This record gives sequence, C-alpha cells and structure tokens, in this order.
Amino acid sequence: MRDYFKTTPTATGEFGEFGGSYIPASLQEEMDKITEAYYSISKSHAFISELRSIRKHFQGRPTPVYFCQRLSDVVGGRIYLKREDLNHTGAHKLNHCMGEALLAKQMGKKRLIAETGAGQHGVALATAAAYFGLECEIHMGEVDIAKEHPNVVRMKILGAEVVPVTHGLKTLKEAVDSAFESYLRDPIHTIYCIGSVVGPHPFPMMVRDFQRVIGIEAREQFLEMTGELPDNVVACVGGGSNAIGMFSAFLEDESCSIYGVEPAGRSYETGDHACTMKFGQPGVIHGFKCQLLQDESGEPAAVYSVASGLDYPGIGPEHCLLAAQGRVTYTDANDAESIDAFYKLSRMEGIIPALESAHAVAYAIRLAREKPRQSILVNLSGRGDKDIDFIVDQYGLPDAKEG
Ligand SMILES: *Cc1c(COP(=O)(O)O)cnc(C)c1O
Repeated sequence: MRDYFKTTPTATGEFGEFGGSYIPASLQEEMDKITEAYYSISKSHAFISELRSIRKHFQGRPTPVYFCQRLSDVVGGRIYLKREDLNHTGAHKLNHCMGEALLAKQMGKKRLIAETGAGQHGVALATAAAYFGLECEIHMGEVDIAKEHPNVVRMKILGAEVVPVTHGLKTLKEAVDSAFESYLRDPIHTIYCIGSVVGPHPFPMMVRDFQRVIGIEAREQFLEMTGELPDNVVACVGGGSNAIGMFSAFLEDESCSIYGVEPAGRSYETGDHACTMKFGQPGVIHGFKCQLLQDESGEPAAVYSVASGLDYPGIGPEHCLLAAQGRVTYTDANDAESIDAFYKLSRMEGIIPALESAHAVAYAIRLAREKPRQSILVNLSGRGDKDIDFIVDQYGLPDAKEG
C-alpha cells in the first residue's frame, strides 16, 4: 500500500482493471480539460487555502469523533462515530461539492449540473452553487422526489432548478442518464458534478481526494482520543464516496480491518438489493468500468434499497480494486437490520442517522457482538431528518421501551 496515492489511479484513471473512461470523443475532450484543470488549479496554494477556510468557517469542520457509550454497553465492542451528520447540510457530500464548485468557478463555468438520489447530493450542490453564485440544475427520479420531499423543497429554496425524471424506474440510475444528457447539450459553460466516486476519469479520483478529509481528520481524532488506531473501520457504500474518504486514511494501517457495507434490501433471492460486490460482474455504467449488477441482457439491473442513496447497480472503481486486493472486505446489511439500527442509535445515543448510514451502524453492531473486545470506527455519513416521515409511515414507531 506504499505510494498508493501516487500510483492510484493511473494517469488515465485506471484502478486495476476498473475505472477508466468509456465515453464519446466529444465528452472525452471535456473530461481531459477538467483533469488538466484539476491538476493545475487544485494543487495551487490559493485553492488549498480557500478550501481549508471554507471547510472551517462554512462547513463547520472538523466534525467530531464520538464514543457511543450506551450503545457499546448494550451490544459490545467500543463503537465510535465520525460525525459527518454534523457537516453543513447534514451529510458528507458537501465535502466534494465545495471542492468541485470551487474548481468550476476557477475554470470560469457558470452552471453546475448533477443527479440526486436521496436528495442529499442535490442539496449539497445547490448549497455550493449558492455559496459561489453559480446556477444549479438537479435531476431527480420522480419516485425519489415523492419520497424525499423536504430535500426537494430545500433545493428550490436554495435557488436550484429541479428536473423530474419520469422514465424507467424513476430513481437514481435514470437521474444520472438524464443529467449526463443535459450536460452534453452545453459542456462549455457547465460542469457535471457527479454525486459519488463514480463516472469517467477524473471524477472517481477527484471526489475521493475531496472526501479524504473525513479519514484524515478521523484518524488523527481517534488517535488523540484513545492513543491507538481503531481495530475496525466501517462505512456504508452506495457509489462509495463517504467510504473511500474514510478508508483512504487507514489503507496502510495493517492492524486495521476495513469493511464496506452494501444494502441487502429485502432479500438476496428476489433481486431486491444492491449488493454489487457479492452479485455483480465487471461491466460498464455511466462511463466507467466496475462490478455491476446486470440483468439477462447485460444492462444495469433494477436494484433496490430502503435507503435511496444506496440503490445504485454499480460501485466506485477504487472499491473494486480494494476488493480485488483483499484490503477491504465488502459485506452487507439488510433493510430490517438497518431500521433496527436506526432506532437503536436514535434511542440510545440521541443521534438520528440517515438510513444510508444506518446500514454501517447495523454492521458495526453485528461486528461488536462478534468481537466484543475491539474498537469500531463508523463513518456516520449523514443525519436522518430526511427519512423520519418515511420510516414512521412504513415501519411504525417501536414501543418506547423497546427501541
Ligand atoms: C449519498 C449518501 C450515501 C451514499 O453515497 P456514497 O457515495 O456511497 O457515500 C451515504 N450516506 C448518505 C447520508 C448519503 O447522503
């Protein structure tokens, strides 16, 4: 793992056999410009110091690391949370949105375009656009629009245009297609800000680099709190941006086991899940190569998770490499376990997690029961305010004494 960041990805964006760029030549030209700008602008002293100042004064970073005493007493282990739910806008996504928007501004772009699933990426990007005075267009599946109403209103309040996507399953995958089409109509004045460590080069690298702040902070904070490194690091994986941000700081720490948690949804058998690593085969989606859940004709499969931000049939190429190298273990948690973890964390710690993050908490609880003497650092990628009406409608409220 030495010199990992110098050699990963390669100059053309390969992470082992994954990643790269599978896009039309006209779009490749734009991607090359973004790559060039990323290398020249984002490494400058001015860019780094502006981003550092934004993180501190606007986002409220560093976010804390918190020890879950009551939860640990009940389930075992020592469970710690990296509180990305306390990052401005309530999730980790603002970390890369502020970076991408700052780059866009310095490249002279006027407009930001993106897709959104749970609405978190849309809110984060609309926030970044407002901060920098840029226009913002967000594509969102109709199903998600209905499910995540408060985030839709937030985006509109922030001045973004929300474009409903009405074809296919009307969720995240179709929203990405729609946003790409819109971007291709005006790539000169626009920049496409992808919502995770996916898409063609340079996005998986760029988004990872902007998210590395999570792991860099957390490693230092954990060491300072406990005098040791964590035995285990856990994060949920949709596309994989919060996870890679956390994992990247621990790759060289051999004593540290790393777990990426995918959504097992309702069941493995019926296909109602998004366990890309367990059931996927190499394939191309949205301009890059990764493990991909595919239907019989090789098209990206219809996937499902109770957490809108996790239902993506692909996964970031760097995760595919880390799985192939055996450095990170990819596992999963299902809907029911995640809902249970959602209520446990809410009632034992006073922290309402995002449904996505609840998958990581669910796996941490399982791990704590298996390894009661070990420490577990969980990336709590976001807060659950956006999910409360949905969960109470669908699953009801457990008795106050249960939880
Ligand atoms: C979007 C989202 C995720 C999933 O995205 P990754 O790129 O896999 O991190 C996880 N948690 C929250 C709170 C999100 O909003």
